[in-house]
Amino acid sequence: MYGAVIVMKMLKTIIKQFTHKPVTTKFPAEPAKKFEATRGHIVFDPSKCTSCTICMKRCPSQAITVDRANKIWTIDRFKCVICGGCIEMCKFKCLSMENTYSAAATPAERGIDEYVITYVKPERPKKEEPKSE
Ligand code: SF4
Ligand code: SF4
Repeated sequence: MYGAVIVMKMLKTIIKQFTHKPVTTKFPAEPAKKFEATRGHIVFDPSKCTSCTICMKRCPSQAITVDRANKIWTIDRFKCVICGGCIEMCKFKCLSMENTYSAAATPAERGIDEYVITYVKPERPKKEEPKSE
């Protein structure tokens, strides 16, 4: 009797396996699901960066390098843990999160992305000289 119960339970499980869709996706054959809050990769806008270096100093994994002299901003995608801290720290809103993952890279390529900073400091409006009477 006990054996029959076990066999019934097993049959139920087997039938369930054949009739239910798998809970996992067939990635990479099927694209991975993306949600609004998915952390993909950091996006940098070189036209807004003032080279203040805050992101470089505060990045917990030292993934960012800012070369002020040569106006180069670099991110090491292998080091970045996608914490999003730099986005919050940048006062100039040049960093954002995209929910797509960065392209695969080989260890030789090191996943390093380099950008030329194109920000130009706006000129201060000249003070009007007092009119001579
Ligand atoms: S990305 Fe933002 S925080 Fe980083 S150097 Fe540029 S302006 Fe400063
Ligand atoms: S997301 Fe985090 S780890 Fe990645 S560069 Fe920004 S502060 Fe550094």
